[in-house]
Amino acid sequence: MGGRLFGTNGVRGVINKDMNVQLAMDLGKAIGTFMGGRVAIGNDSRTSAAMIKSAVSSGLMCAGAQVLDLGLVPTPVVQHYVKNNGLAGGIMITASHNPPEFNGIKCIDSDGTEMPRSKEEEIERLYFTRTFRSMPWNAVGQMRQASGAVHDYLDSVKRLVDADAIRGAGLTVVLDCANGAGVVSTPLLLDDLNVRAITINCNPQGTFPGHPSEPVESHLRDLIAMVKDTGADMGIAHDGDADRTIFVDDKGRYLYGDKSLAITAEAMVRENGGGTVVTPVSSSMAVEDVVRRAGGDIIYTRVGSPVVARKMIEVKALFGGEENGGLIFPKHQYCRDGAMTVAKMLEIVTRNGPLSKLVDNIPTYSQDKRKLVCSEECKERVLAALVEHYRSQRVDTTDGVKICYDDGWTLVRPSGTEPLFRIYSEAKTSEDAKKRSEECEKVLVDLLAR
Ligand code: MG
Repeated sequence: MGGRLFGTNGVRGVINKDMNVQLAMDLGKAIGTFMGGRVAIGNDSRTSAAMIKSAVSSGLMCAGAQVLDLGLVPTPVVQHYVKNNGLAGGIMITASHNPPEFNGIKCIDSDGTEMPRSKEEEIERLYFTRTFRSMPWNAVGQMRQASGAVHDYLDSVKRLVDADAIRGAGLTVVLDCANGAGVVSTPLLLDDLNVRAITINCNPQGTFPGHPSEPVESHLRDLIAMVKDTGADMGIAHDGDADRTIFVDDKGRYLYGDKSLAITAEAMVRENGGGTVVTPVSSSMAVEDVVRRAGGDIIYTRVGSPVVARKMIEVKALFGGEENGGLIFPKHQYCRDGAMTVAKMLEIVTRNGPLSKLVDNIPTYSQDKRKLVCSEECKERVLAALVEHYRSQRVDTTDGVKICYDDGWTLVRPSGTEPLFRIYSEAKTSEDAKKRSEECEKVLVDLLAR
């Protein structure tokens, strides 16, 4: 009895359409049956948070799990709590950067990592076969509020940076939490690090009145303007569940996530006199350039933070992350870590700033992105033929087909949800990036016609 429920970031849907209380409760029963024991649950600021969390919690208790409610918290706070309190697992009620009408249910493994696909499949099997545990009256789970999770998380973040140096630097930042879960943690972190914080959208509000919760440049106009107006040392933006962090530099320039990934990666490798950095094949070559010049190694993975985190555990990596602002610090935890990313960037700027200087020191590449329609049945055949076509060049098949050049690459990935290929190219100039994409697109069209 099959069926897929979990996407790349948990189960997500529009409230009272594909995400409803019946689904949430049944999924809670399945998760409770699978995890057993004590389970932490947290939520972001969405209007449906209480509704979905209550339904999931009922299901968990029906299956005999003990529920510890952390309330409104960032996803990495739940992950930290699960790992450090010996829990069976955790659940985060969030749809991260999706619009406010969405919500989602995301499972966290007992070690605090995002749940691997194999375990999600087991939960899906329980869900679709409806083989839930249903406990007798004297063995159903209980629910209690758990306090202190945010403070424990922030304390451990502060222990991993030179907090005294940051406190002495007299930094000013503008913080934009997108009215999401970051409002309960990052303002406290900044206060404790003696950083002057000018806040916008730092009240929890599930309609996201400030701007949509994806921290892309077009949503952060107010933040960018305020950094310029106030002469702040940086702007900081989180997504809705504050596992990701995006920065604006002291000149008011929006930094794509590959910039902060590269700046942090280089600093980490230099501090540690070497080390391995893990990132997906889609990351900018700038990351590899700076890791190598600092004396470190780079390992590429398939796209997706759980894959990056698992590879980091396997190779004992120093640092890793994705270019969407999701950075992973193994000394803290193996997951995207919004506040840890803030603290580390404050430390880097304290030691080597200003941020604009660090940005200008990162090699620049241009990217070209496009799509090409291809039926599901043809995808595999065309990708195999593509590898054959480029056999005289260095080709990486970690995720799709990546054709490597000395100064960039072209990556062709089949979409997991739509009948199309995504074509990404990177080069030193935008003309070259476009040329690379066009050439590859032509090859794909020819291969499709065969
Ligand atoms: Mg997120």
